[in-house]
Amino acid sequence: RRLEARALAAEDCRTADGVRIEVFANLGDVAEAAPAVAGGAEGCGLLRTEFLFLERQNAPTEDEQLAQYQAIADALNGRPLVIRTLDAGGDKPLSYLPMPHEENPALGLRGVRTGLHRPDLLLTQLRAVCRVRSSGTVAVMLPMITSAAEVCQVRAMLDVAVGETGGASPLLGVMIETPAAAMTADLLAPHIDFVSVGTNDLTQYALAMDRQNAHLAAQLDSLHPAVLRLIAQTAAGAADTRWIGVCGGLASDLLAAPILIGLGVTELSATPSMTAEIKALLRGLTLADCRELATQALRLDSAEAERALADERLAAL
Ligand code: PEP
Ligand code: MG
Repeated sequence: RRLEARALAAEDCRTADGVRIEVFANLGDVAEAAPAVAGGAEGCGLLRTEFLFLERQNAPTEDEQLAQYQAIADALNGRPLVIRTLDAGGDKPLSYLPMPHEENPALGLRGVRTGLHRPDLLLTQLRAVCRVRSSGTVAVMLPMITSAAEVCQVRAMLDVAVGETGGASPLLGVMIETPAAAMTADLLAPHIDFVSVGTNDLTQYALAMDRQNAHLAAQLDSLHPAVLRLIAQTAAGAADTRWIGVCGGLASDLLAAPILIGLGVTELSATPSMTAEIKALLRGLTLADCRELATQALRLDSAEAERALADERLAAL
């Protein structure tokens, strides 16, 4: 399959029965963009913008940010680019962003909360995104959302950024990283263009297990039945948005990807090195295969049992 995957890497991904599934790459800086496209990525489903903000004395200016986003958009050559707003917080301190001491940084000012705490930083970033020129889709994606009110506050700032820059209006989507967001995806949907499930944080918050804790690493499987149900609830709630994505680690997991598609996910944003193999895998499956697998997986009581099921079914197909 690896050889076939490489040969067809540049082709769009469709299931065996012709259903289009977008397979994007997660990017963390400019240098990764061109190799990701060469490796088969159909776009960028998650640009982690922290690289622009970490290890420096001042926040990057609007022009500095624009230069980096534009270089990535150019490398993607009209393919979709989803830019996540700054996801810094208590655990990733920035010298120019003094934060109160927090007992529980993972439950504190992070993700979109940081942006709403420092609207000057967020507005500068939104203005830079509005100024990106691309023949394809450019989108803003908000991390750590828990409510429609947060989306509406950022939407108002985005409207200001569009007006002030005279730029194009990017799409606006949210990451589903908290149980609150997953369970209320239907309430978020009217305010957004798309969702993308961040399975790393969604697992951490659903299982109440620190994703960095080495003692818990073996139990932190994103195929835990609780996480799977939250993803199913997300897909059902956001069914009317433009796309339902997954950009956490589960999108790069060959046993999980068919289950995700079966739950209604239409876009996977994976580690660049995995895109070609994921496309090859999905080309060999029908949507009905994926749905059947997902239905059966939802009845199982552990991630191990789901993995065994997927392994057995995929080998038989
Ligand atoms: C996630 O939480 O799954 C995610 C994609 O975001 P990050 O890993 O950058 O927190
Ligand atoms: Mg996250």
